[in-house]
Amino acid sequence: APAAEKHEFKAETKKLLHIVAHSLYSQREVFVRELISNSSDALEKLRHLQATSQDVSADKPLEISIAVDADSKTITFCDSGIGMTAEELKENLGTIARSGSKAYIEKMENSTDTKDMANTIVGQFGVGFYSAFMVGDKIAVYTRSAAPGSEGYCWESDGLGSYTLAKSDDAQVGTKIVISVKDDAKEFLDKDKLESIIKKYSNFVGFPITVNGEKVNTVDALWTKDKNSITDEEHTNFYRFVSHAWDEPMYHLVYKADGPLSIRSILYAPTKNPEAMGFDRVKPGVSLYSRKVLIMPNAEGLLPEWLRFVQGVVDSEDLPLNLSRELLQNGPIIMRLKSIITSRIIKWLQEESRKDPAKYKEFFQTFGVFIKEGVCQDNANQAEIAKLLRFETSDKDAGELVSLSDYVEAMPEDQEHIYYFCTSSREFGLESPYYEPFKKHGTNVLFLHHTLDEFVMGRLSKYEGKRLVSIDSDDVTQVLKKWNESDQTKSSDDAASALTEEQTNELTSWMLAALGMPVKEVKVSERYMSYPAIVTDFESPAVRRMMKMMAGDSK
Ligand code: ADP
Ligand code: MG
Repeated sequence: APAAEKHEFKAETKKLLHIVAHSLYSQREVFVRELISNSSDALEKLRHLQATSQDVSADKPLEISIAVDADSKTITFCDSGIGMTAEELKENLGTIARSGSKAYIEKMENSTDTKDMANTIVGQFGVGFYSAFMVGDKIAVYTRSAAPGSEGYCWESDGLGSYTLAKSDDAQVGTKIVISVKDDAKEFLDKDKLESIIKKYSNFVGFPITVNGEKVNTVDALWTKDKNSITDEEHTNFYRFVSHAWDEPMYHLVYKADGPLSIRSILYAPTKNPEAMGFDRVKPGVSLYSRKVLIMPNAEGLLPEWLRFVQGVVDSEDLPLNLSRELLQNGPIIMRLKSIITSRIIKWLQEESRKDPAKYKEFFQTFGVFIKEGVCQDNANQAEIAKLLRFETSDKDAGELVSLSDYVEAMPEDQEHIYYFCTSSREFGLESPYYEPFKKHGTNVLFLHHTLDEFVMGRLSKYEGKRLVSIDSDDVTQVLKKWNESDQTKSSDDAASALTEEQTNELTSWMLAALGMPVKEVKVSERYMSYPAIVTDFESPAVRRMMKMMAGDSK
C-alpha cells in the first residue's frame, strides 16, 4: 500500500471530537442526517457542474447508497458526488468547518461541563462530519474529486489526535465513508432502525437514498408540494436540513407564484438568533434553485441583508442554470425575484403578527434587531417594515409592546405627532423631567430602550403621515408652551415670568459662568414643572450620542 502521511488535528477539532465521542450519547442518531446532508451537498455541486456543462469526470447516477453489515460491524455511506482532492480533505475534515461551533468551542475554552457544551453544539450548530465519531471508533473516507485527472485518496482516523492520508487507487469519483461501529452503538447496525432514521430526517433529500440496495426516500422536493399536504414534522426536518440548525422553525411560509415570475418556495423564521449569542454575522439563509437544481447555496443578493435570518429555498425556473455569480447577484431576474420575495416576506410577518400577537412578540424580541436594521437600510420597503416594529409605551406596563399603528390609532384627535423617548431604562424614562409634562398632560409616549432605536426613529422620521418627535428635542417646545398656557392649576408665582428681566439676565449669566464651556446657552423657559432646570439638546439625540462616543464616553 502507498505510504500514509500522518497529520495532527487542530486543537479545537480535538476538543470537538472529544465532546462528540463522550457526551452526545442520547443524540447519536443525528450522524445519519449529517452524513446524508454532506452527500446531498456534494451531489448538488456535481449536478450543478454538469448542468452548466463544465468538464467533470463523472458518469454514475447521482445517488446515495448506504450499506450496513452486521458481521464486519460497519456502516458505509457512499455518494457519487463531487468528491474531494487531497487538499480539500485536509481542509474540510481536519478543521472545523462550522464557524458557529468553532467560535463556541473557543469561547468555552476553559469549561469542563462537556455535557452542556455538547448539547449546545448539537442544539445550535450541529457537529457535521465529526458526528460519525459518535458511533464509530474508526472512520475511513475514500474519495476522488470529479475534477478531471484527480487521484483517489483515503483519509483515516480514530478520532483521537490525528488522521492519516494516503493515495488510494480504487477510490471512485465521489465519497465513501466507512464507519467501524463501536460496541455500544450496535443498534445502528440494524437496517430497519437506520431506515426509520433516514425517513425521519432526510426523506425529502433530492437524490435517491438506498439501504442495502433498497430505496428509502421519496425524492420529492418539498417546495413543489401542496402546502396543505406538508406536515409540521416535515417542516421542522426540512428547516433543519436547509439551515443546518437544530432549533424549531418559528414560522413557515409556502409561497408559490406563476406570474410574473414562476416561483416555488418555502421560507422559515427560526426560533433562535445565532447573532445574538455573540457569533459571526450569519450567511444569507435562502438557497436558490432552478427546476430543483441548486444553483446558489446561501444566495447573496437574493434577499436584502436584513433578511439574512430567513432560511429556506426559492426555486424559479425562469433562472437560467448557466449564470455567472456576478449576474446571479445583480442580474435583472434576481432583482425582480428579490423585490417580489422581500415584499412577500414582509407581508407574511405582518400576517403572523396579526394572527398571534403573543407569538409575534416572542419573534420580535429575538429578531427585532433585524427588523430595525431593515427600517434603516431598506428604503424601498421602509414603510411596510415599520409596521413590524414593536415598542413599549408609557401608558402600558413594562414588557407590553405596541405597534406604531396601535399608537397612532389611540392618539387623541388634537395630538399632532408621535412622541418617543430613548432612555437606558424604563425607570429612568418615567422619572425624567422630559417626560414629566407628558405624564401630567396624559400624553402617551413610546419608550425606547434599544441602542438602535434612536437611529431607527431618525431614519423613519414619519409614520402614517405623523412625524416622530423625541420628547427631549427642541421640537416639543411649542406643544409644551401650549399645554402650559392652558394649565389652570398653575399658580402665578411659580412661572418663570415671575422674575424680572434684570433678575433673569443675572441668573442666566451666573449659570453660564458656573457651568462653563460645554454649555452653549442658558435660557429661561416655561417648559418645566417640578424641576428647577433641565438640559436640552441643540443637536439631535443621535449626534449627541456620537459626540459622547467620540469623547470616549461609551454610555
Ligand atoms: P458542513 O457540511 O457544515 O460544511 P461538515 O463537517 O458536515 O460541515 O463537512 C465539512 C466539509 O467536508 C463540507 O463542507 C464538505 O466540503 C466536505 N465534505 C464532507 N462530506 C463530503 C462528501 N460526502 N463529499 C464531498 N465533500 C464532503
Ligand atoms: Mg455537513
